[in-house]
Amino acid sequence: MTIESINATGQVPLVRAQDVRKSFGPHQVLKGIDLEVSSGEVVCLIGASGSGKSTFLRCVNHLEKIDGGLLWVEDRVVGYRIKGDKLHEQSHNEICADRTDIGMVFQHFNLFPHMTVLENLMEAPLRVLKQRKDEVRRRALGLLEQVGLEQKAHAYPRHLSGGQQQRVAIARALCMQPKLMLFDEPTSALDPELVGEVLRVMKDLAKSGMTMIVVTHEMGFARDVADRVVFMHDGRIIEEGAAETVINHPQHERTRAFLSAVL
Ligand code: ADP
Ligand code: MG
Repeated sequence: MTIESINATGQVPLVRAQDVRKSFGPHQVLKGIDLEVSSGEVVCLIGASGSGKSTFLRCVNHLEKIDGGLLWVEDRVVGYRIKGDKLHEQSHNEICADRTDIGMVFQHFNLFPHMTVLENLMEAPLRVLKQRKDEVRRRALGLLEQVGLEQKAHAYPRHLSGGQQQRVAIARALCMQPKLMLFDEPTSALDPELVGEVLRVMKDLAKSGMTMIVVTHEMGFARDVADRVVFMHDGRIIEEGAAETVINHPQHERTRAFLSAVL
């Protein structure tokens, strides 16, 4: 495998996985993932529980170290610095710097409970990026307006509904001005009546041109918003294509079985 960020069509995708492998002890969880995501693309990652979806997102976001293949975000190899034709492990500081380009939203919103909504948004831009307070505050308030929560700026997370908390989590990730947003089942912990408000925010974000990889069981969202749907099974991608094609006309029997269970 050559160390080259340009793909066969001469482009540099925003994310590029080449034969990515990951094991936990003897258990191989990712068995050779090849995936490219272009700038501005929205890719929905679907598949049964345990198929490796979260692990893949965590690898992209430097939260797990891969043990085979290469993973690129733009022209950088995740976890490594390229020197000539060799890879050197990144230092902690280099990893932190690269991670600032990636926003991640989890199933459980993980807001800082002792901070107000506005403070939650401002924390990382101030402490990690050392940006100016007035500038960060203005951006944070704009983002709260974007997710429909400007009136909650001074509330504490415990006083918000799950759907509101998840919208805050999305705004907090966006406040770092990431190039890539990863969503790991962002609505699966929510009461059904709160799912729609979160999906709407994500849909608007997709329309604004954000590059997104979304793990979800919301097939309606995938059909409406995703440029591409990728189906994982047992650590491998076994089917991918336009959302309409994969969801309405799945080719692989495993995809059909999965879809009939979630649709
Ligand atoms: P999915 O998100 O598709 O449900 P995961 O990526 O969470 O799947 O998990 C894939 C497999 O990897 C599962 O069998 C899970 O138990 C295992 N796994 C995930 N994280 C760890 C870990 N930190 N240590 C050991 N096994 C793990
Ligand atoms: Mg998962």
